[in-house]
Amino acid sequence: MAKTVVIDIEACSGCGTCAAIAEDCFALNEETEKAYLTDQSACSEDDIQEAMDTCPEEAISWQE
Ligand code: SF4
Repeated sequence: MAKTVVIDIEACSGCGTCAAIAEDCFALNEETEKAYLTDQSACSEDDIQEAMDTCPEEAISWQE
């Protein structure tokens, strides 16, 4: 089964790192200042993993 990316918006600090690393699948909601997933399939798993590993709040995870 495909893995799904989940963002814990409670934990997200809105730093924008994920959107900078994997800009095709993450974006920052400027009103809420929280990250959201735009299109998981637009990024490689490696890019998503890098964003996940770099997120300072560890707010991005895989849900299997
Ligand atoms: S890198 Fe993490 S804390 Fe920063 S905007 Fe993305 S999900 Fe939020």
